[in-house]
Formats: sequence, C-alpha cells, structure tokens
Amino acid sequence: MTDIFSAVDGYIEGLFAKEDEALAAAVADMKAAGMPGISVSPVLGRLLFVLARAVRARRILEIGTLGGYSAIWLGRALPEDGGMITLEVDPRHAAVARKNLARAGLSEAVEVREGAALDILPRLIDSGEPPFDFIFIDADKEPYLDYFELSLQLSKPGTMIVADNVIRNGAVIDPARAENPAVAGVKRLSDALAAHPAVDATIIQTVGVKSHDGLALAVVREGR
Ligand code: SAM
Repeated sequence: MTDIFSAVDGYIEGLFAKEDEALAAAVADMKAAGMPGISVSPVLGRLLFVLARAVRARRILEIGTLGGYSAIWLGRALPEDGGMITLEVDPRHAAVARKNLARAGLSEAVEVREGAALDILPRLIDSGEPPFDFIFIDADKEPYLDYFELSLQLSKPGTMIVADNVIRNGAVIDPARAENPAVAGVKRLSDALAAHPAVDATIIQTVGVKSHDGLALAVVREGR
C-alpha cells in the first residue's frame, strides 16, 4: 500500500492500537505455525473493538478465527458477563487460536468452535441460540451472502454485522475480475446489503498496512 497510508496507519496504531504482549505473541505464534498473515491489522482490530463497544455487545459471533487475533480485540470489548463464539474450519488454526486466547486471559469468554461455518450456523439457529449483538464475518468469501443470511437469523434489532474484505483492492469494480469466485462472493453480499429490507448498511474503504480493502457494516432494523 502507498507509503503515506502505511505511515498514517502507524500513527493511528501508535495512538489507539498499540499491541500489548498477548497480541504481539499471538502474531508471533501464528507466524511460527506457518499461518498466513491475513489477520486484521491492529488499527482494524481496534475499529472492531470500538464498534462492538458502540453497540454494547454482550454476545459476539465471529466467522473465521485464524489464530484468534481479531477474537482477542473483540473479546476485550465484552463486559465481564459477556461471551463470544468464533468459528474455525481448520483444526490447526483453532488450536493456535485457543492458545493465543488463553494467553490473553480470554479462554472463559471466547469459545473457539471447530467446523465449517455453513454446518455450525444452522445448528446454532436450530438449537435456539440467543441473538448476538455483534457479528464479524471474515472466513471464505464465496459463501459471504449465506453467512450474512444465517447471521441475520442469529441477530436482533440493533445487531451490528460487519464483513471484511469486500473491496479486494478495487477488484469489485473491475469487470475483468468479476468472475473471480472471491470477488463474486463479496459482491453478492454487497449487492444484497444495498437493497436488503432488514438492515441499514454501507461500506467503508480500508487502507493502511494491509492492502486496499473494505468493511461492510450493517445494522439490523427494528421490526424487520
Ligand atoms: N478473523 C481473523 C483475524 O482477523 O484474526 C482472520 C480470519 S482469516 C481471514 C479466515 C479464516 O477463516 C481462516 O482461518 C480459515 O481457515 C477460516 N475459514 C475458511 N473457510 C471457513 C469455513 N467454511 N468455516 C469456518 N472457517 C473458515
């Protein structure tokens, strides 16, 4: 990314998102385990934290754990009696995440549930799981719209649903890349959000130490 965006990201990080020992160790452990460097950045982690606080989230759901980096940020936004479930299909990722969450003192508050999200989400719905206040979608991109529709069934008015990577370096406006499955997946979600009767939504572009991307933000309407 452009130098000025990275430099300003560093400035914001220095002000609001300095990594403590638990976050830095989580990054180091993910690297040591050979996991891809696709966690949210510190500044985006802080944004998730602030958004979760804004909706006073007591129950958080995350789809796509990796090594638990964003889960640490989100887990820290919870009140003492709050709880979070984060879904991860890869058992090796889940194992690293559990260790990282334990180091951050979040083992009790954050449960890493192993399996494919498209299997687990319907089970959560069928078992009568109470609604979540904040939902972060950050797994494989093709089923993003399915994740959103299932998330809606686990939400209530005021729930904030956030989906990462919906701009993909501008690929979403490039006709030459429209067939790419990940691009098509996030576009299906964004198109649906723009017209969806159950939510008020928008997208913010994100720049900084990670590549140019975007977060879709949706708030569930009253009386949907
Ligand atoms: N949210 C994490 C963070 O910022 O620290 C990063 C998540 S990473 C971008 C995506 C994760 O989703 C990977 O660990 C991947 O194994 C997981 N994943 C991919 N497909 C999945 C699926 N069908 N169900 C659950 N997790 C999945």
